[in-house]
Formats: sequence, C-alpha cells, structure tokens
Amino acid sequence: MRDPRYDILFEPVKIGPLTAKNRFYQVPHCNGGGYRDPSAVAAMRAVKAEGGWGVIYTEQTEMHHTSEITPFIELRLWDDRDVPMLRKMSEAMKSHGALAGIQLAYSGINGPNFYTKEVPLAPSALPIRTFTNDPVQARAMDRTDIRNLRRWFVNAARRSKAAGFDLICLYGAHGFGIFQHFLSRATNQRGDEYGGSLENRSRFSREVIADMRDAVGDTMAITLRVSLDESIGDLGFSNSEVRDFIAMNRDLPDLWDLAQGSWDACSGPSRFKEEAAQEALARGIRELTDRPVVGVGRFTSPDVMVRMVRSGTLDLIGCARPSIADPFLPKKVEEGRIEDIRECIGCNICITGDMTMSISRCTQNPTFMEEWRKGWHPERMNARGESRNVLVVGAGPAGLEAARALSLRGYDVAVAEARDEIGGRVARERKLPGLSAWGRVADYRAYQLSQRPNVEIYRGSELDAGQILEFGFENVCIATGATWRRDGVARQHVVPMPADPDMPVFTPDDIMEGNLPTGRVVVFDDDHYYMGGVLAELLAGAGCKVTLVTPAAYVSDWSRNTLEQGAIHLRLAQAGVRIVLNRGVTRLFSGGVETNCTYTDAREHLDCDAVVMVASRQGRDGLFHDLVARTDHWADAGIRSVRLIGDAEAPGPIAWATYAGHRYARHLDMPETGDALPFRREIAELLDD
Ligand code: ADP
Ligand code: SF4
Repeated sequence: MRDPRYDILFEPVKIGPLTAKNRFYQVPHCNGGGYRDPSAVAAMRAVKAEGGWGVIYTEQTEMHHTSEITPFIELRLWDDRDVPMLRKMSEAMKSHGALAGIQLAYSGINGPNFYTKEVPLAPSALPIRTFTNDPVQARAMDRTDIRNLRRWFVNAARRSKAAGFDLICLYGAHGFGIFQHFLSRATNQRGDEYGGSLENRSRFSREVIADMRDAVGDTMAITLRVSLDESIGDLGFSNSEVRDFIAMNRDLPDLWDLAQGSWDACSGPSRFKEEAAQEALARGIRELTDRPVVGVGRFTSPDVMVRMVRSGTLDLIGCARPSIADPFLPKKVEEGRIEDIRECIGCNICITGDMTMSISRCTQNPTFMEEWRKGWHPERMNARGESRNVLVVGAGPAGLEAARALSLRGYDVAVAEARDEIGGRVARERKLPGLSAWGRVADYRAYQLSQRPNVEIYRGSELDAGQILEFGFENVCIATGATWRRDGVARQHVVPMPADPDMPVFTPDDIMEGNLPTGRVVVFDDDHYYMGGVLAELLAGAGCKVTLVTPAAYVSDWSRNTLEQGAIHLRLAQAGVRIVLNRGVTRLFSGGVETNCTYTDAREHLDCDAVVMVASRQGRDGLFHDLVARTDHWADAGIRSVRLIGDAEAPGPIAWATYAGHRYARHLDMPETGDALPFRREIAELLDD
C-alpha cells in the first residue's frame, strides 16, 4: 500500500464551503473535443474521477456569446440549453467523490467572435490578441458594459450551479481571461476607477467575486486563476504585482490558482522546461493569503509534489498534462504503485488537438479522448479473443505499446527487436538536445513488460519472413518503423531532388548514429516538426556553422501547434544558427546548394560542406510485403493474421505509433466493423425551422 511519505498528498483540503478529498487537482485543460464532443469529454473526465483526483475541472467555458475564442473548440455556457451537456460532465467528474469545477472564461481582448459576429469588449480598445493576429479590434467597455458583464458572470454562476458544479474557476491567466485584462496595465489603459492604480485594476475582480458570492457562494467555491508573471516586460502584470494583488486581496477567492505567463510559457514542453519550473515564482505567495494555493509545473513525481506541499509553496498539486498521460496517477500513488505511473513526456501533442480543432491525442496514453468514442479505458483491456499468441516484430513505440496492451488482454507475446536496445526511434531521439524525457515512452513500457509473465523480449533479433514462418505464432504484428530519406522527397520535392554525388548528404538517422558532418552545414527542413530544429541545435553545439533552410515561414512550423515554435526559434538564434525562411532547396551541387524563394522562385547559391536532409521518412515495410508474398504458407505455419502498424505502415509522430500499437491490441480477434464508423460521435440536434 501507500508509502507514508506520500500521506500528505492525501490530506483533505478545505476550499471555501467545500472540502477536496486530497491534494490532487486537475486544473482546466483543453481536449479538442469541447462542445462538439460533449460525451467524449464527460467520459474522459469520469476516468480521472475513477483515477482518484480530488478536484476535476472542465476546460475553459465561454460564459457569454460576446466572448468566444474562435476557432478553438472549448465549452460554452451561453444560455440554459448548454446546461444539460455540462451537467453530464459534472456528474461524470463527481462519480468517485471528486469536486467538479467549471472554468468560466470571458475572453475579452482574446475573443475575435468570428462565430457570433459580436463586437468584442475589453477594458481598453486594442487589437484582438490571438495566435492568428486576427484583423479585429475590441471596443473599450463603458460603465454600462461593466455592469452588464458583472450580471453575465452572475448568470453564468447560477447556470454553473444548475449544471451541478461545486467550484467555479474565474480565468485570468495566460492572457486569456478578462480578469487579467483588467489587472494588467498592458491591456487596461483606462482612466476611470477601473484603471490606473493596482487597487483600481483589481476592482473588477473584487466586484465580480462579490456578486457571485452573493448568488452562489454559500454552496460553491470561487477560485481565481492568474499567471505568476505575465512576462511581457514593464507594462505586464509582473510577479511582484501579482504578489501585491494577492496581499491586497488576500481572501478574495476561495483559492488562488497560480498559472504562468502565456499558455506556451505555462505548458512549456520538456524540451525547454523542467518539472516544477515555476517553483521560484510561486514561493512565498502562500504566506500572503489565508486561502489555499494551487500551482502547476508538469508534476509527475510524487516526491516533487510532497516537496511543494512541505515547503509551503502549494496546498494543492495542479496537473493538466500529467493527468492526461496518466488519469490514474493519484490512485497509483495511493496504492504504492509509483513505478506504474505513466509519466507525461512533455511533448505537447495533447495541445495539438486544441490547436488543430480536431480531438486530442496523448503520446503516452493512447486512450485519451477515446474513452467514450471507442470505449477504451486507460487501465483495462478487453478480454482475449480466440487466438492465443502474437509475435510483435520491432520494439519501438508501436511494438512496445502493442505488446503491453496485448499482454494485458491475456495473449502470450514475443517481441523481437533487431537492435540490442529496445525503444526504436525513442531510444535514439531521447539522446537529442532537450528530448531526454521522451525516453519515458520506452521506459514505462519496458518496465511494464518486465512485470508481465506472458511476455518475452528478444533483443538483437532481426527477423526475416522465413524465420517468422518457422516460429508458428498465430498473429504477427509488424512494427518495424521507418528510415529518413536521403533523396529529399517530402513536400517541395515529390520525386528525388537533383543531387551531385560530391555533396555529402546526412540524414537524421546518420546523425543519431553518431555520424556527424563538419564545417558549413545546410539543414534543409521540409519536415517542419521538431527534427530540423533539434539537429540544427545539435550541430551548432558540435561546432558546425549551421544554416537552416525551410520553405515555411517559420522554423519548425508545425511546432506552433505544440506551443514550442517561439522557443525553438529563440534557441536557434542564440546558438548562432542562420535561419533562412521561405526558401527551398532546388538542387545540391559540389560545394553548395541552390535555394529558391517559395514565392518568386528566385534562385541563389549557398556554399556549404554538407547537407542534412530533414525530408520525409519511408516505412520499413519490406518484411511485411515478404510475408504477404508468402500468404500461401501461412496456414501451414499456423499464422492467422499479419498486420503492419505504426511508422512502418505510415510514418508519423510518436503519438501516432503508440495509438497504432494500442489499436492493434484492442482489435485483435474482434469482429470486423466493415464499413461502419469505427468510433462514436455526436451530431448537432436539429431545431424546428
Ligand atoms: P514505431 O514508431 O512504429 O514503433 P520505430 O522505428 O520506433 O517504429 O521502431 C521500430 C523498431 O523495429 C526499431 O527498433 C527497429 O530496430 C526494429 N526492426 C526493424 N526491422 C526489424 C526486423 N526485421 N526484426 C526485428 N526488429 C526490427
Ligand atoms: Fe504529456 Fe505529451 Fe501526453 Fe501531452 S501528449 S500529456 S505532453 S505525454
């Protein structure tokens, strides 16, 4: 059972009129489902309730139609018709004794209102501040607007209560909520009693909380989420002003919820931010208030959590991503199963679901957002089907996850890996700058497999079709991964790029094997995710003079979806990497490359000694096709099925591979669904015309 040193994490904490059963506090987080997929979101939160969280929140809930943060799909509480959907969520959250919280957001200067077509309202008239520089400005609120907004908050509070929630979090962090817009001199340039001094800038928060307390405060707790430091220079709501604000209003909310900076600063990826990165900014705030304090920091280690509480920094441990990667984190601590915690790797793939308006994935937890859509549970598998055993070829993320999940279903599993080390791409990518935490994808699964009596792992075992036919496994899962292309085929070049053989070309695989170029190196990034930027950083650190050329307008363009792009550009600029945007590479010649402008096609020569080709990858599917070519021999060999999964089938990010492995394991021996949709979805209700 539980190690006594973690007892402190299971102490109840009083929050206003309510008591959280423990200190595990799932702070609001997006999921890419929101109002479009309410049952999927409710089921995801229900799993967290089962996993032992003391407090569970919704994502941001737009509380009035004059404030919507299009295009992101969050929740809405615009009128009573939204209440049943939210009640379904609160009931799911409360199903195992957790407190259910709703985060109310009025986006103000962040809401372009594309859907509602309302004029945005903000403390001061400024352009809307979004990721997409929308050509829309907000109107400054007058006193009538402020009175209206106070009433809208009360309406939202009453509806939140009707929807069954225990707590309301008022969003004033990440630059996203109206409370911050009033508190910060950057967004509040008013000359009336709501602007100027900190006392005046605090007035709106004080009034709204007082109004809401009158309306629902006897039964609901009201919390305020602020950033520890707006981190935008002199005008911003700085850490010292945050401290002054809390000292001045020490008992204003029932709990202080301390987030950090903008969203990308708060949800910093492991490449740029350590666990508990905000500790110094949060330290001492607890002493300014009588109310409990929660804070975040990608906490996955219960020892770090204990330190945060014992040091008097936090009362509650706020987790978003760690609760996504392992919804059962509290339960595992409680049951003394620390080594079973599936630690978040800090890749921010979960955030891409929100940024792409799709539905979120998690690299570590492939069941995330599939709890309702597919009926997947993070800790329980469906029972074994009619066959008994599986040979998994390849121990990368796909193969390891397939093996783990298959073994839980009760299959006897053999994993054959060509290399001496398991982990596939992760075993090598974890050694790249900043990516060590990604190794947890392999470490978690390696440990889980080591505990299973029905799994054997064979290292240094490169298999061919003949051997597989001899072994006599009933099912063969080919998860043999992919290799980076040397010929430049990706997006600019759909056929091989013209290349003089005198120009040395390195692929990411070469570099991960320790085979590095020297001198002047052009990194051509037509992949657009992390690899180009990471290798440029690595080579600059190894003494190369690096120029990164990309046809995109941003370095590591797709990493804007993981909230990393700004940090990547900064890191490369600091490392002395020359960044050439909006240019492709048309050909390689002896002594250099020819580049072209993405728009005009104007050509230039760029001298270099070597090229690193970060283009696309090619599935290693030869073994699969060899087996397919010998289908006639399967029956004699006892083979019932052969499947190709993961990067070998179609290369993608690591999260796609763990998902593929999990899906393979779930579906083995299950009836084919034919042409039916392989997941559940909800469809908008039609109203009468
Ligand atoms: P994925 O991301 O799909 O899991 P990876 O490239 O990470 O793919 O992992 C694939 C693994 O498969 C690598 O570790 C590779 O060494 C291994 N592998 C490739 N071909 C064979 C083979 N014929 N026999 C055994 N292992 C193989
Ligand atoms: Fe953590 Fe990555 Fe999962 Fe997000 S997707 S919870 S960052 S492991």
